[in-house]
Amino acid sequence: MIERCLEGGCQCGSVRYRITGSPVLAALCHCTMCRRANAAPAVAWAMYEQSQVAFLNEVPTVYASSPGAHRGFCARCGTQISFTADYIPGLIDITIGSLDEPSQVSPTLHYWVSERLPWLHFSDGLPRHPEFPPTDG
Ligand SMILES: [Zn+2]
Ligand SMILES: [Zn+2]
Repeated sequence: MIERCLEGGCQCGSVRYRITGSPVLAALCHCTMCRRANAAPAVAWAMYEQSQVAFLNEVPTVYASSPGAHRGFCARCGTQISFTADYIPGLIDITIGSLDEPSQVSPTLHYWVSERLPWLHFSDGLPRHPEFPPTDG
């Protein structure tokens, strides 16, 4: 059996990555920090073990958006790529929007809906968590 592989990268191609296997979690985040960093009303994230993700060219430039939390982006074109944090050791979030085939990873829940923009509505029927979801699933 061949393990599932996904690739993605930034808009200019400087940052490219390859992911092996399935995500630990895929979700839509409505928090103000993701919104600002991505300049988007909500951000879709796929969370992986760091060992599942290999960067092929440039590694993302990192910005500490809050203590212990790091957002990785392409220094050349600005595409947001990743999120890592002390409170999720060994894990890395990858922006689903940076995948070559973003339709291959479907979010299964929403989190930080307490900060959702009032004009943003999804009719997907997925579970909604006011803040960060329970980390056991
Ligand atoms: Zn780039
Ligand atoms: Zn967020």
